[in-house]
Amino acid sequence: MKKELEAIIGLEVHAQMNTKTKLFCGCSNDAFGKEPNTLVCPICMGHPGTLPAPNKSAVEKAIKASLALKCAVQNSSHMSRKNYFYPDLPTGYQISQYDFPLALKGTVSFSSSDGVKECGITRLHIENDAGKLTHAGTKSLCDYNRAGTPLMEIVTEPDLRSAEDAVSFAQELRRILIAVNSSEADMYKGMMRFDASISLRPKGEKKLYPRTEIKNLNSFKALEKALGYELKRLTELWEKDQAPKGEVTVGWIDDEEKTVMLRDKESAADYRYFPEPDIPPLVFEKSSIDSLGGSAIELPEEIRQRYLSLKLTEAEAQLLIDQPALQHLFDAVQKKTNDAKRTSSLVLTQLMGFLKAQNKSISEAPSIDHLLQLLDAIDKKLITANAAKEVLEEMVSSGKSSSDIIKEKGLTQIQDTGAIEKLVEDAIKANPDAIESWKNGKQAALGAVVGWVMKQSKGSADPVTVNEILMWKLKG
Ligand code: ZN
Ligand code: MN
Repeated sequence: MKKELEAIIGLEVHAQMNTKTKLFCGCSNDAFGKEPNTLVCPICMGHPGTLPAPNKSAVEKAIKASLALKCAVQNSSHMSRKNYFYPDLPTGYQISQYDFPLALKGTVSFSSSDGVKECGITRLHIENDAGKLTHAGTKSLCDYNRAGTPLMEIVTEPDLRSAEDAVSFAQELRRILIAVNSSEADMYKGMMRFDASISLRPKGEKKLYPRTEIKNLNSFKALEKALGYELKRLTELWEKDQAPKGEVTVGWIDDEEKTVMLRDKESAADYRYFPEPDIPPLVFEKSSIDSLGGSAIELPEEIRQRYLSLKLTEAEAQLLIDQPALQHLFDAVQKKTNDAKRTSSLVLTQLMGFLKAQNKSISEAPSIDHLLQLLDAIDKKLITANAAKEVLEEMVSSGKSSSDIIKEKGLTQIQDTGAIEKLVEDAIKANPDAIESWKNGKQAALGAVVGWVMKQSKGSADPVTVNEILMWKLKG
C-alpha cells in the first residue's frame, strides 16, 4: 500500500541590511556595480592586528526586523567565530552568532491560496557577508567589495508544507524587511538569498526524517523550482523504499533546473564556533529595544487591509506594498483628495502609465509637492481634467512644476464663456457635415464639433461648458 507523504520545509534566509557602511569597518556598503576590490580596507580584509567595531545602525536595523517578525530580542547576545576556509572569506572565519543569537521565537502570517497561514521564526542573528567569486574558464576571480556587508540570517521552523507556501512566506518576509527599512531586499542584486531544507514523512507521523538542504537560491522562482524538484526526487525514493538515511547538502543549477549533491551536511562542530574575542557582548536595556519597535511600524498585512478598506483591488494594494516610494506618493495624494477613486486614477493609472511609457522608475516620478500643486490647479478649475493629464505627462518627462508647465503651454482654462461661445460658433461653421449628421439623428457626430473647439483652445476650454453652449446654440 502506498503511504501518503507530506513535505516538511524550512528556510534559512540571508538578507543584506541597507546600512551606509559595512558591519565592522567604515567601507561603503553600496557594492553593487562597483569596480571590484575598491570598497575594501585592512579590517574587512582581515589583516593581522586590525580590530572590528560593530555598526550601530546595523544592530538597530536587525532589532527592528526582529520586532516586526514578532521575535523576542535578547537582552544579551554575542558574536561568535564560525571557522571555515573559502577564497571569498579573507579572514578565514565569519563573524556570526551561534549559541546566543540576537532574537528568538517569532512568527510570520502569510496569505496562501488556501487561506492565511503562519510560519514560526526560530531565530534572527547578525553576521557578515563573504566576498563574491566569479568563475571564468579555468580561473576564479575574487571581488571583496561585498565582504563585510551586514546580514541578517533568519531561520524558520519547519512549518511550511509546499513549495508554493515557501514562496508566499518568503515574499511576505521580504515585504516586512522592506517595510521596516532594514533591507532593500532587491533579489536582482542578490540582497536576499535562501537555503531551503526539505524532508518527507508519512502523513500523520510526528517525527522528522533526514533532510536535504538546498543551498544558494537567489530568486523566488529558483526557490519554487528547486523545492519542486527535490519533492519529486524524494517522493520517488520513498516510493522505492529508499528514503534518505542521512542529511545531505545539494546545490541548485539554475540553467539545468536540477539539484546536484555537494556534500554530506556539515554540522556545527565542523565550524569550531567560539565566542568572538574582539567584540564585547551586545547588551540592551529593555527601553532601548522598545524604542525601536512599537506601533509606529505598519506591517504589510496592516497596509493591505487599509488599502482594501479604501476599495482598492488586491493587485493595487500589493503594488503599493511592494513599492514603498509609490506608497508614499499615493498616501500623500490620498490625504489631500480623501477620494481613493480619484487618487488611484491619478497615481496608479495616469502617473504609472506615463512613467512606464517613458521608461522611468518611480524614483524619477514628480515630487509630492508638485503633484499636490497639480491637484490644486484642478480643484481651483485653473485647468481642465484633460489638460491636467497633459501637464502630468510633461511633469514626468521634464521634471518641471505644474504651474510652470501650465504657464508655458497656455493651458489655463478659459473662464470667459463669451470666448467659448465665439469658438462654438466658429466650430459650427467649420463642421457643416457633422451638424448635418446630427440633424439626421446621429448624436455622436457632435464629438467632432466639440473636438474642434478643444483643439482650437489647446484643451483650455472646459468640455462640459462647450457641450452646454453647443446644445444651446443648436437647439436655439
Ligand atoms: Zn572595510
Ligand atoms: Mn549564515
